[in-house]
Amino acid sequence: MILLLFGPPGCGKGTQAVYLAERFHIPAISTGEMFRAECKAETELGKAACAILASGGLVSDEIVNGIVASRIAREDCKDGFLLDGYPRTVPQAITFCALLKERGLPLPVVIHLDVPDEALVGRLTARRQCPECKHIYNVLTQPPKVAGVCDADGAALLTREDDREDVVRRRLRAYAEQTGPILKWFGPSAVRIVDGTRSADAVAQAVERVVLEVYCEVGVS
Ligand SMILES: [Zn+2]
Repeated sequence: MILLLFGPPGCGKGTQAVYLAERFHIPAISTGEMFRAECKAETELGKAACAILASGGLVSDEIVNGIVASRIAREDCKDGFLLDGYPRTVPQAITFCALLKERGLPLPVVIHLDVPDEALVGRLTARRQCPECKHIYNVLTQPPKVAGVCDADGAALLTREDDREDVVRRRLRAYAEQTGPILKWFGPSAVRIVDGTRSADAVAQAVERVVLEVYCEVGVS
């Protein structure tokens, strides 16, 4: 079972990755986690990636592909794995699928959690932070007792720079520009679109159904 999870910022991808990993007993691997692990293990690839990240540069496709290849060769991936944040470019997708073929592994199930921009803007701009105790509230899901005021110390809550609407819209645009070509490359018949606007539980059930459907179609239990 090889799952690739895609979805825009704020779509709840992290929650779904954790759920899927537990449900199917596979590791959920994010590129961030892989880089940290490789850096710590001080492998050749890890050292190269660390040096680039530390200098603020972008890690090349070659290094990212190498790190993914070494990570999925590990024992805990023998029954499958879920990747979150990879592939990030079409060349990475091409290399990844070639690698799966080379190892005799099935093609991945590509899941795209679809949430309209307007809903994401609503979710992503809902965070407020207390400038005193740094506690983070969410006006939709975890509001303070009194609107605009910290429960603990009464300070006026602020919207962080990252959560401003123009910044959020820019992030969503960047995501669409980056991911659109990858989903197009996999093709509409390979990409399973799941409506991500519902509750986390409902989305989890829908994703699970999609995964089971795909694996039944191809005869893998
Ligand atoms: Zn506070």
